[in-house]
Amino acid sequence: MDSATSLPFTLSPNASPVPAQQRAQILASPGFGRVFTDNMVVIRYQEGRGWHDARVQPFAPLTLNPACAVLHYAQEIFEGMKAYRTAEGGITLFRPYANAARFRKSAERLAMPEVPDEVFVEAVRQLVRVDHEWVPGKPDESLYIRPFMIASETFLGVKPASEYLFMVIASPVGAYFGEEAVSVWVSDFCRAAPGGTGEAKCGGNYAASLLAQQEAKGHGCAQVLFLDAVERRWIEEMGGMNVFFVFDDGSIATPPLTGTILRGITRDSLLTLARAEGLSVREAPYAIDQLYADAASGRLREVFACGTAAVVSPIGRFRGPKGDAVIGEGRGIGPVTGKLRSALIAIQRGTAPDPHGWVE
Ligand code: PMP
Repeated sequence: MDSATSLPFTLSPNASPVPAQQRAQILASPGFGRVFTDNMVVIRYQEGRGWHDARVQPFAPLTLNPACAVLHYAQEIFEGMKAYRTAEGGITLFRPYANAARFRKSAERLAMPEVPDEVFVEAVRQLVRVDHEWVPGKPDESLYIRPFMIASETFLGVKPASEYLFMVIASPVGAYFGEEAVSVWVSDFCRAAPGGTGEAKCGGNYAASLLAQQEAKGHGCAQVLFLDAVERRWIEEMGGMNVFFVFDDGSIATPPLTGTILRGITRDSLLTLARAEGLSVREAPYAIDQLYADAASGRLREVFACGTAAVVSPIGRFRGPKGDAVIGEGRGIGPVTGKLRSALIAIQRGTAPDPHGWVE
């Protein structure tokens, strides 16, 4: 298959969608990731035949053979992106080609076939088009879109599968965190090692992070912070977000892309926005001991997490075996965090110009 145009979509959408009144009730308070739209996209892959049989069909459970490869060897990758309702009532996607490119890189690392970017984005567009009424309109709300690929071949044996399913599902969502700054647990567990899969968005990375996340909850923390696997010294990222630091001289920093952390699209966008604001920006290693020292001295003024789901969320406290580090007042959103957050949201929602061509 050469391009999207050579992959026609068969449209057989849900003939009995959720009634409008019930949908309105769901959209009044969507929560996060619990309810799904009426339809989904499914595209099949077979070695020798490539991607074929692209369909928009009713959202429904899958039937998988118990010996299906993904259930045993976790050959699975996914993406997370959002469709936004604009002030005029239109719908936008934010940097969908960046998600498509990251999905390709994840596929390569997991020895899976690449989905061409045009097919990936067209699949997302098809679902958003058919389920457009599910895109909520209030600030902080959006349609969370989950493209993913699984190894669907039936076999037991460790090898790349010869059959795959690429699918897209979507869920109307509200804010991931509330307004308040969250507490973060500094974990002793490692998420990713050099040469491993940390940079790929594969389910296995998240399975490996769950015990640490559970531990965080047990310590009253909403999220977990992972350190590097070699020295257990350098701050890497959170369970599902990148992390930024704001210093008293107005500069901001975030850990560099060393291959063990996810190349966050929000991270990249904020770096661009911060540079455009004239802020001094560093992608540089930051040690956890330094964070404790800088929090105590007041040099570290603000810390925030960023990602598609969390957008930009302030962190008020780190908690770990070495004690607590309180950031700023430990509450609320700092001025630099707030400014970057507003700038990003304004572009996503179409209330500010889009000089970088991010909105599709
Ligand atoms: N790190 C991890 C581990 C993540 O799961 C995510 C969410 N995709 C991010 C960072 C943030 O990435 P993005 O800004 O592209 O959502």
